[in-house]
Amino acid sequence: MKISILGLEGTAWNLSAAIVDENDVIAETTATYIPASGGIHPREAAQHHANHIADIVRQTLKKGGRNISAVAFSIGPGLGPCLRTVATAARALALSLEVPLIGVNHCIAHIEVGRWKTPAKDPVTLYVSGANSQVLAYRKGRYRVFGETLDIGIGNALDKFARSVGLSHPGGPKVEELARQAKQYVPLPYTVKGMDFSFSGLTTAAQEALKRAALPDVCHSFQETAFAMLTEVTERAVAHTGKNEVLLAGGVGANLRLREMLAIMCEDRGIKFYVPEKRFMGDNGAMIAYLGLLMYKSGYSTPVPDSRVNPGFRPDDAVVTWQ
Ligand code: AMP
Ligand code: MG
Repeated sequence: MKISILGLEGTAWNLSAAIVDENDVIAETTATYIPASGGIHPREAAQHHANHIADIVRQTLKKGGRNISAVAFSIGPGLGPCLRTVATAARALALSLEVPLIGVNHCIAHIEVGRWKTPAKDPVTLYVSGANSQVLAYRKGRYRVFGETLDIGIGNALDKFARSVGLSHPGGPKVEELARQAKQYVPLPYTVKGMDFSFSGLTTAAQEALKRAALPDVCHSFQETAFAMLTEVTERAVAHTGKNEVLLAGGVGANLRLREMLAIMCEDRGIKFYVPEKRFMGDNGAMIAYLGLLMYKSGYSTPVPDSRVNPGFRPDDAVVTWQ
């Protein structure tokens, strides 16, 4: 019988349910939380998810919900209240459909959907989202973290800077837009320590720089500095691991300047660079369902009593059972 998995994503701003089989995404329904003001409020986002989850699941099942083999959900990392809301729904669904429950690591789902939807086989992955920024690669049963942010994720850094100049959430795409009108580069702190990077000082310095430079120039300089840091660490991970593919994952991966820098680096090294379709880059239910499918096929399931969410779940704490 064909395997089909229902996946639920709701770690932060995006609530999404999807059904996938081994070939494709069968159905996907999404409800996006947009803060009334400021950034993401964890409890407001969780309330949003609670308000919409029944409807989202109903619509998804209606579109493609025959013979669900298992229910997968993001067990972490993410915002505690959001994770708990969606996990509660996942448990109830698994129990009522009488199928296994599968708790998946959200970061690894970003990587696996990229391997599914691009030709990448064994890449170095740059995963850049709101809360997370990591350089990862597979080795001996785990996705190892080769480098990561020491404070906030690049997405949050861009969003925070954007908010401070009066742009609404999410600020990343607005910064990208403004950067196109820049006339000059203004120096900002470039912080790479070993294989790790840091962004909170950059956000503060960019706010300071506005006293002497125009907003588009600062947006441009912010991007140039932050993306060069990310590209440098990605390149070093490629050099260390000897892998010959780079995969871009996460919502910030929509940024064309970041893609361009990575593409240049990969071309210079003679390696392949892969970017999935945009719908698979930001948080989405399909990636959770797909990793659930891989885990299901490897015989993995999460007993309900062990299905407590883990807001700090590191990708290198997850044992890869499916490769
Ligand atoms: P995720 O958590 O993976 O869904 O990604 C969300 C983050 O991606 C937010 O911080 C957005 O500001 C950021 N983002 C989305 N589009 C862009 C873009 N074009 N440039 C920079 N950041 C972006
Ligand atoms: Mg994400």
